[in-house]
Amino acid sequence: MNSTVHDQWDRTHLWHPYTSTIDPLPTYKVAEARGAEIILADGRRLIDGMSSWWCVIHGYNNSRINAAAKAQIDRMSHVMFGGLTHDPAIELGKMLLEAAPPSMHNIFYADSGSVAVEVAMKMAVQASISASGDHNRTNFATIRSGYHGDTWNAMSVCDPVTGMHGAFGPALPVRFFVPQPRSPFGGEFDEADIQPVEELFERHSSEIAAFILEPIVQGAGGMWFYHPEYLRRLRALCDRYGVLLIFDEIATGFWRTGRMFAWEHAGVEPDIMCIGKGLTAGYLTMSAVLTTRRVADTISRGEAGVLMHGPTFMANPLACAIAVESMHMLNETDMASRLRHLEDRIRHGLEPARALPWVTDVRVIGSIGVVEVDRWVDVGRFQKECVDRGVWIRPFGRNVYIMPPYVITDAQLDRLMHETVELVKNLQQQ
Ligand code: PMP
Repeated sequence: MNSTVHDQWDRTHLWHPYTSTIDPLPTYKVAEARGAEIILADGRRLIDGMSSWWCVIHGYNNSRINAAAKAQIDRMSHVMFGGLTHDPAIELGKMLLEAAPPSMHNIFYADSGSVAVEVAMKMAVQASISASGDHNRTNFATIRSGYHGDTWNAMSVCDPVTGMHGAFGPALPVRFFVPQPRSPFGGEFDEADIQPVEELFERHSSEIAAFILEPIVQGAGGMWFYHPEYLRRLRALCDRYGVLLIFDEIATGFWRTGRMFAWEHAGVEPDIMCIGKGLTAGYLTMSAVLTTRRVADTISRGEAGVLMHGPTFMANPLACAIAVESMHMLNETDMASRLRHLEDRIRHGLEPARALPWVTDVRVIGSIGVVEVDRWVDVGRFQKECVDRGVWIRPFGRNVYIMPPYVITDAQLDRLMHETVELVKNLQQQ
């Protein structure tokens, strides 16, 4: 049987992410998905190493979340949030504040990760102008190799080289970039890492509303895990220079790094925090932006008197009900032990890749395992081989990585890692 389940209509008319319309990468048609398994239309079964881009934390077709979704649909699947409210939004909000950094106080529900980043940046600008009365304090700073989404302002703070700056050039607002912190998570902290932030703030803090970054794990911009001390130093500098600190926990949240949120590794709190992806366990698109009472009230005392954002599907009840059930499941499970188990097993399973001459690093944190190689991986070719081997992994750049749903069985995980190492071995021929 042809290893690619082609659908010609799909190839001709449907735009898939980051692929050409003239010569699209192959796509594989999915019939259904259960637990940590994706079942293709031709019957082949793939062990999922991606959690559908970080979000399917409890696995596909989860019976508890299915039931919660169905129950909510029978009440109402949507109602506007302007002037109305509902239990799913309130219940979710209470659970989020219990799990979030203690200083978080106000929650803004948004549509997707990228929109959450837009909202966080708008919050920072409004709060900055309101606090300082200075309309020039509206720019942003970030570290290189970050990724924050595909909308306009989110793009502007993505890595200028691996991000979208190449395609959009001068159309994007110009931000301040400092080098990526090189001190590794679990290693020594090098003072040189934080120096550029101090130099930047020294010269430009009067123009900067906020510093935005992914805490501890830089995801789609490079799959890099950096030292928690960087965040502690950054927090101190932000305080000293009056710059707000935004943590983008969209990818890192909901236990992906071994903690509920990655800020816990450093013990420093942001002023504004974005969450998404795992929030709805991969069922629906929804995100949230959390902030302190100080930021929220500063915005409310500003010229506009309100935060200037209000999406149609804000606090969608169906998405909130799903998120509530997912939070119950997380709270009822000893997630710290579960993640320690996954981390140990992934570390052990990927270790053999380290001996390969073209492998430059193997790193693991929580349920994220990365094998970095010395060459760009051909995604189309790699994925075809994945499917032939019964696993689902989507590499990018020089990173082959896995981040399975937390419900993956030990047998599935071992098989996934065995195949990952085999796939990396075969990169020699590329
Ligand atoms: N921030 C981070 C850290 C992300 O990883 C992503 C998505 N990969 C986003 C923002 C954007 O989220 P979305 O794709 O839901 O817009």
